[in-house]
Amino acid sequence: GGSLPGGPARRQPVPERFTRFDAHPGYQQIEMMREGARRLGLTDPFFKVHEGNAGATSVIDGREYLNFASYNYLGFSGDPRVNRAAWDAVERYGTSVSASRVVSGERPIHGELEQAIADAYQVEDAVAFVSGHATNVSTLGYLMGPKDLVLHDEYIHNSSLVGAQLSGARRISFAHNDAGALEALLARHRGQFERVLIVIEGLYSMDGDVPDLPRFIDIKQRHQAWLMVDEAHSFGVLGEHGLGLREHFDVPAGDVDIWMGTMSKAMAGCGGYIAGSRPMVETLRYLAPGFLYSVGLPAQVAAPSLKALELMREEPERVHRLHAVSRYFLEQARGMGLDTGHSIGAAVVPVIVGSSPLAAGLCHALFKRGINVQPILHPAVPEKSARLRFFLSCEHTHEQIDQTLEALAEELSLNRP
Ligand code: PMP
Repeated sequence: GGSLPGGPARRQPVPERFTRFDAHPGYQQIEMMREGARRLGLTDPFFKVHEGNAGATSVIDGREYLNFASYNYLGFSGDPRVNRAAWDAVERYGTSVSASRVVSGERPIHGELEQAIADAYQVEDAVAFVSGHATNVSTLGYLMGPKDLVLHDEYIHNSSLVGAQLSGARRISFAHNDAGALEALLARHRGQFERVLIVIEGLYSMDGDVPDLPRFIDIKQRHQAWLMVDEAHSFGVLGEHGLGLREHFDVPAGDVDIWMGTMSKAMAGCGGYIAGSRPMVETLRYLAPGFLYSVGLPAQVAAPSLKALELMREEPERVHRLHAVSRYFLEQARGMGLDTGHSIGAAVVPVIVGSSPLAAGLCHALFKRGINVQPILHPAVPEKSARLRFFLSCEHTHEQIDQTLEALAEELSLNRP
């Protein structure tokens, strides 16, 4: 074997910026953000430590806050019956399944959870992964390949983007919720690719808006593409019984090829799932790297989500309360002239304030007044749509919402440039 030109003997010294982590572009970005916060006299709004369960209220640094920053939409995290399911699972199964499910990690609770998910969707099968993020990475990454095309809403979650990139498929985004733009892309590109997958979300977590599902189904059928819907924020939230986007629009479950969701929001646990046809789900169960080469979901994580799902079906009034509270928040905020964007008033309501420093300043001011809400800053959203993002839960009361919106209106009038 020959050596490369200018071989080892004459190698240049490696510049320090390639060997030091504090020179990494990511670290530089963090430093810049901290410096910006310091100049504005703000505390870092990230990594706040909640001392107990985060519900409609939460204890941070010894003080109880009204909490609008957690996606415990149905109040199941902290529910004694859901806790009990976790305790019982630990007693029966221990704390780890100690292997990938495909070898010796399979436990009865896995099949029970997956059956309950498949039943909720009225589809043939479902498979549960240990992380929601890994579910999208592995599903897109495995199912799609270099001869394929992924078309996705521009606001799609990072996990789907990473999965699409990993797959090696061509990836094109379309304007948010713009089915017409998607159709134009399909008309132009469908013929050049083998498989085509369209990826949308059931409820967009920055805006609280929903796609026109029947229209997307019609388009995907006419162009022989697959449709994947990420229901991380819509399952447990949309529909009369919380059954998600399918129930919201009353479409047959089989019209969507890949239903994806997470157990980390309404289901009070951790992990992700894929639901749909048996061949699709089996392919993932036997072959998706994030499933095959990863430990099975611990029983004490699977069991509370199964319990939450059962309770949701027995107590649809929780879903109704979530709807009522979210609509109340939306209507009151709009009535006060706040910009809530396209939110439909289901669990997620943004208040768009138009600048990152203002959003960060409001978050800081509200926190001092006992209200915890997360700012969403550039570059997560464009600067002019920097916002406070409110997550509602069925346990919030109208009084808590009134108090919060009054405080926000006061702080806005004090802080507006
Ligand atoms: N999809 C969407 C739309 C999400 O918002 C998230 C995370 N919030 C995920 C996937 C990843 O889920 P998890 O946090 O459960 O890993």
